Amino acid sequence: MNVLEERIIKDGIVKEGNVLKVDSFLNHQMDIQLFDDMAKEWSKRFQGKTINKILTIEASGIGIAAAVARQFNAPVVFAKKSKSINIDGEMYVAEVESFTHKTKNQVIVSKKFLSEDDHVLIVDDFLANGCALQGLISIAGDAGATVEGIGIAIEKGFQVGGQIIRNLGYQLESLAIVDAMDAETGEITFRQ
Ligand code: 5GP
Repeated sequence: MNVLEERIIKDGIVKEGNVLKVDSFLNHQMDIQLFDDMAKEWSKRFQGKTINKILTIEASGIGIAAAVARQFNAPVVFAKKSKSINIDGEMYVAEVESFTHKTKNQVIVSKKFLSEDDHVLIVDDFLANGCALQGLISIAGDAGATVEGIGIAIEKGFQVGGQIIRNLGYQLESLAIVDAMDAETGEITFRQ
């Protein structure tokens, strides 16, 4: 069991509706030492790849991406959630449905910060149905950037996102894959 899995067992709370709450170390209070350990693991897994930019989505991806950025010596660009439909031509735009809030948001990245010269590592906290990742992949595609890989902290392996993203051919490295979780007993099973 790796450090993230151990921490999920210790402090994660399984909620109804397939939601894993990890507020005490990842989504609200943030354990930066843990983020640094996770970032080091991704730097091993993506060794040999040229990565010059870390791409994530606000808000929970940002802290993790910052730790990853230190490993790759690269800046972080985060997609901003925007309710506005009045977006000028200066932005790449994708539509993302929020798994936790069930709302649709446009997410935007300024054309100033992503281009065909970029080799991107996409990073996020959770992978559920894959909407957030597909939005980020689409933005990278619009920019002509190359997606070198995807790092996810917690993949819920019983939801479809992981399969969709792997089928698209991306190197997806999830540090903890939850194969089952039970809101009644609190039991969490990780993929070996
Ligand atoms: P997806 O787009 O893959 O369906 O969902 C991923 C996004 O939804 C993540 O960026 C994360 O913010 C949120 N999310 C999905 N499942 C969970 C969960 O079980 N717990 C928490 N805290 N966030 C989740």
